[in-house]
Amino acid sequence: MDVMLEVQNLSVNYRGRQALEDVSLALGAGELVGLIGPNGAGKSTLLQAMLGLVPCRGQVLFQGAPLRRQRRSVAYVPQRSRIDWDYPITAGQVATMAQSALAGWFRQPSQQARQRVTVALERVDLLHLCDRPIGQLSGGQQQRVFLARALAQGADLLLLDEPFTGIDKKTEALMLGIFTELQAEGKTMVVCSHEWGNALNRYDRLLLLNRRLLANDTPSAVMTFDNIQQAYGQGPQLSDSTSPYADFFC
Ligand code: ADP
Ligand code: MG
Repeated sequence: MDVMLEVQNLSVNYRGRQALEDVSLALGAGELVGLIGPNGAGKSTLLQAMLGLVPCRGQVLFQGAPLRRQRRSVAYVPQRSRIDWDYPITAGQVATMAQSALAGWFRQPSQQARQRVTVALERVDLLHLCDRPIGQLSGGQQQRVFLARALAQGADLLLLDEPFTGIDKKTEALMLGIFTELQAEGKTMVVCSHEWGNALNRYDRLLLLNRRLLANDTPSAVMTFDNIQQAYGQGPQLSDSTSPYADFFC
């Protein structure tokens, strides 16, 4: 495997409470990876620790050098619930944000940067809503704006936190299509998810997290009764069709 990202012994403490314990993993170029686990498992914390956004112990290397010094190559799509949707900013401005941060906040984005944003908004089918305040868009459209921002950045590694939560079918299909294209371009994607079921088979690999990394393998190898029980601390009720496990073992 052509290793792109290496996480070595990563641990995070929030006021003395351990949110991540000794997580190590390596991801290759062109991999679509699902980061799964229950609420509070530390999925968001792991992405943020990789980016250097929360204090941590351990190392995160991107193409052999510390990732926090190569933020240009990494795009981050935060969890929707952590974004202030009342902030007065348009979809186009959000999609341009990564470019502004890279060029320097007080400089106008270059013609080239603006062109990249236009292409990215077209790719997520949102160019027509470019001047609309972000707060007025649907959940799926908001998610697509953030994906456009990541695309415009031209990053090699994309970290996406719960992008499939609360979105419409059109957005889901569009995002999956783009993920496939990005894989073909050799980009690596880590996608957090608390969803269960057959949708997890879309990933090349699953990382099952609950403070520690419990499993790191193909979806069929990770989706076992023992692993789920270990991560969720209770046995699945296979007979109950409303159980999150219901179509997991079919
Ligand atoms: P997940 O994304 O898997 O739901 P999180 O990474 O958000 O999990 O949270 C992991 C644990 O760390 C939870 O117990 C959460 O309450 C705690 N936590 C997350 N962020 C903070 C923070 N900024 N300060 C203190 N505790 C936090
Ligand atoms: Mg989270």
